[in-house]
Amino acid sequence: MSRRSCLHTFSEGNPMPQFVLVLAVVALVLVVESVLRARNYNGKKHNVIFMGAPGAGKGTQASRLAKDLNIPHLSSGDLLRKAVQQGTPTGDEIKSYIEKGQLAPDDLINKMIAEELSKPNYKDGFILDGYPRTVEQAEFLDDYLDEDNRYITAVVELQVDEEVLVERIAGRRICGNGQCNASYHLKFKPPLVPGTCDLCRRPLIQRADDTEAVLRERIERHEQRIVPLLQHYHHQGTLKEIKGEGPLEEIYDDILLSLGI
Ligand SMILES: [Zn+2]
Repeated sequence: MSRRSCLHTFSEGNPMPQFVLVLAVVALVLVVESVLRARNYNGKKHNVIFMGAPGAGKGTQASRLAKDLNIPHLSSGDLLRKAVQQGTPTGDEIKSYIEKGQLAPDDLINKMIAEELSKPNYKDGFILDGYPRTVEQAEFLDDYLDEDNRYITAVVELQVDEEVLVERIAGRRICGNGQCNASYHLKFKPPLVPGTCDLCRRPLIQRADDTEAVLRERIERHEQRIVPLLQHYHHQGTLKEIKGEGPLEEIYDDILLSLGI
């Protein structure tokens, strides 16, 4: 049935239903438009930092928010790897520290982030994840953005109980076959046959970083490092503490709410 004959049939006899239909469509368009607008910038730029312990889920939430707001998601770890791989001047410098088994100094990391944030696609907002890691880096970032009339609009801290983090990470298993790399979780995504990859039937292994002892140590180090950083942003009034447990959808909604989106 063509569109014309459909409308004709609908309006036959009584013109009211067609009028109501048009009103309903207009109302629907208005609602969808306002939701989309609210989900975008809400009239302001969002320069947001995500923080959280290993396994808190900040990467997942950060990349989703970046996608919905249509702004770049800058993960300092990814940027560092890219710079080293591409052999940029900063990347080569960082590589020389990594090869010596040392951490790249603050100055170098700051420079790498500033170079990236100066690109035009960051001017309308960005999501940072993995940086800053120290109060010195946070102060550098404040000064750098201030010179460009920008500032951090919010810092989202995903809070997850240590036992939940341990359960999430210590249950991870990956396929030992380097060609396959399938990933599993003892509780949330168990393989069909315990200890065996569904895809290639090879044995599953646990990453050295994912064992409970290593993990508890990483969480401990994270806690010590993050406290002064959280204080820094708390004083600025930008800190948003979000409970990072439960369904991903609910956590995401809490994040949007805290950002006034
Ligand atoms: Zn496999």
